[in-house]
Amino acid sequence: MTSGGLHHRTCSLCEAMCGIVVEHRDGEVISIKPNRDDVLSRGHICPKAVALKDLHEDPDRLRTPLRRTPGGWQEISWVAAFEEIEARIGDIRARHGNDAVAIYAGNPTVHNLGAMLGIGDFIRALRTKNLYSATSVDQLPHMVASWALFGHQFLMPVPDVDRTQLFVCIGGNPVASAGSIMGAPGFEKRIDALRARGGRFVVIDPRRTESAAIADEYFGIRPGTDVYLLLALLHEVFKRGQVDLAHLAPHVDGLETLREAVLGFDPQVLAARTSLPHSRIIALAHDLMAEPRALVYGRVGACTQEFGGLTLWLIYCLNAVTGHLDREGGMMFAEPAVDLTRAYGSRGHYGKFHSRVRKLPEFSNELPVAVLAEEITTPGQGQVRALFTFAGNPVLSTPNGGRLDAALAQLDFMVSVDLYLNETTRHAHLILPPTSPLERSHYDIALSGFAVRNVAKYSPPLFPKPAGALHDHEILAQIAQRLRKAPGSVTGRVSLKVKDAVARRLGPDGTLDWMLKTGRYGVPNAGKMKLLGALPGFGALRKLMRATDRRPVGLTLQRLLDAPNGVDLGALEAAFPRRIATPNRRIELAPAMFVADLGRAAAALDAPVPSLSLIGRRHVRSNNSWLHNSQRLVKGKPRCTLMLHPDDAADRGLADGAIARVTSRVGMVEVAVEITPDIQPGVISLPHGWGHGRAGVRLSIAGAHAGVSINDLVDDQRIDALTGTAVLNGTPVEVVAA
Ligand code: SF4
Repeated sequence: MTSGGLHHRTCSLCEAMCGIVVEHRDGEVISIKPNRDDVLSRGHICPKAVALKDLHEDPDRLRTPLRRTPGGWQEISWVAAFEEIEARIGDIRARHGNDAVAIYAGNPTVHNLGAMLGIGDFIRALRTKNLYSATSVDQLPHMVASWALFGHQFLMPVPDVDRTQLFVCIGGNPVASAGSIMGAPGFEKRIDALRARGGRFVVIDPRRTESAAIADEYFGIRPGTDVYLLLALLHEVFKRGQVDLAHLAPHVDGLETLREAVLGFDPQVLAARTSLPHSRIIALAHDLMAEPRALVYGRVGACTQEFGGLTLWLIYCLNAVTGHLDREGGMMFAEPAVDLTRAYGSRGHYGKFHSRVRKLPEFSNELPVAVLAEEITTPGQGQVRALFTFAGNPVLSTPNGGRLDAALAQLDFMVSVDLYLNETTRHAHLILPPTSPLERSHYDIALSGFAVRNVAKYSPPLFPKPAGALHDHEILAQIAQRLRKAPGSVTGRVSLKVKDAVARRLGPDGTLDWMLKTGRYGVPNAGKMKLLGALPGFGALRKLMRATDRRPVGLTLQRLLDAPNGVDLGALEAAFPRRIATPNRRIELAPAMFVADLGRAAAALDAPVPSLSLIGRRHVRSNNSWLHNSQRLVKGKPRCTLMLHPDDAADRGLADGAIARVTSRVGMVEVAVEITPDIQPGVISLPHGWGHGRAGVRLSIAGAHAGVSINDLVDDQRIDALTGTAVLNGTPVEVVAA
């Protein structure tokens, strides 16, 4: 807690983790400026940082629990809310079983220390198979590929952008996003530096994005065909016999299987499907083979397509066989102070159970969110009758949002832990608002693992918790405690119960301190930690403290408190073979599930190409659906427009600014047209996160800039069959004048 004045903090809104300097007086934020001395962001912030003030001071932000009644929303006490949850959930579980209660966790969860540390306990108390999150709409293929190749779902490589000479970006827009699964604040400056040392930045995307605008070379690819581009690139590498597995070679299996599978494709046919000239693909393959410091990075656009799993797998393979995986200037692995790949997170598992209706496989106990609506509306044993949403707005952020919107209205009971009465939470029976980001401490426990430099930064709360308010983790803990009171609910492994009990006792900051001390850069002799390590459930911790590659530098919470600009822990460094986490400690380049899925991609090579394909887009002033209630972020030219190529506009008689009607198999929207040559013919684009015009929301500014939801057009039946990831990009649509 702070008195007024200037305070150094880390922005908690996105993966870039920018350092900010906040000035406040008498409880009011006066300014938010960049921290030029921050160890990671070096003075960069984006326009969203200032929205932390708007979020904190927003009169629409909920501060008291609400109950929905026939007469409207009524404020209630926390105790009344928790009692109602205990009674209603207890009744539903007693009559229909644990799986009748589902949970959806949204993207902000991962930016929240308390939530990250508390949600596992909450989920274990629910004991449901119906666990959903934003993972299956934005990053699941990365996690499945990392699990299958390297043995851990969170062992995801990140671009060594500050040392590379050739950066190939597929389906990502880091200029707008500041990086994703790549914490790279000030990305443009990093690309300027790359160019100054003689390097090149290449962007592959159906739209000439903000990132493509600063690229040295741009490939306008057909949506959904990255898998074919990657197969063509790999084909050339294998055909030339120029495989360079570098230091990984003694630790790699599956190379021959991969080679055989790739060489079975005709590169000319592959190139034709991408709409890119074969000669350009060949040239890019040669550039990748010739440049010792090169990398191929793929992000949201690459993984949210019909072959997203294959695409991410092949990106990893291409980096590996061209000698650019786990090598300086290539795709490397961060080694954060709190390392989820070492001691705390599950390695991952796949297909242990399947969704009830569509039989899609789980990954790490989570089902694809594309099945949530049907799990609510399809009668039978295991039907979802109650739902918890945590910091999520799936009506706007998941496929066929209209169907989910209708499904939520059928639930017997719904509870939302959320700051706002939005398009999703309006269906809740209870809304429980946590404290604002400026009222809680912050450490990026997950995202530090994907930063382009190893750093550790901690922010204490800027403002005290208001009287009567609860933090997210306190809300989760209260509910979990009550759920456990139900008869027969206290089961599960002793080790997990001990772990949860210790974490509850220490609280988020105490747990973080303990994680830092025992981590790679912690204290040499962890003292009392050794005693903790002797408890059941702490085997991984004992292993962590004995790890031979520990480099203790005395990192503790106090040390971070004493370092308001953060602590620099060094550049990315080679991690393999010491961090390979597969059971046989070898990298598997050709997991059977991926090789088998190539048959699906081969069969689709001849599929008809839609006359128009819809893709999403991101803007630097937008963060999914939840920052549109900030006037400073939504003001100016409307950003929720339908981008359309001039030829496609002319064919349909559409002028710039005209209203178009866009129709897909599942829905229709009407939206203003923005004609631009920056999109490929046959492709149209809408940004995601909009569509605030639904009745019953309490978002006065967003409501005045409603826009339309792309997810009212995205088909929930189109998923990547391998991973269950929603196909957000490449939806076949028709466009006519409205
Ligand atoms: S890029 Fe913007 S939103 Fe993201 S951390 Fe930096 S200032 Fe915050």
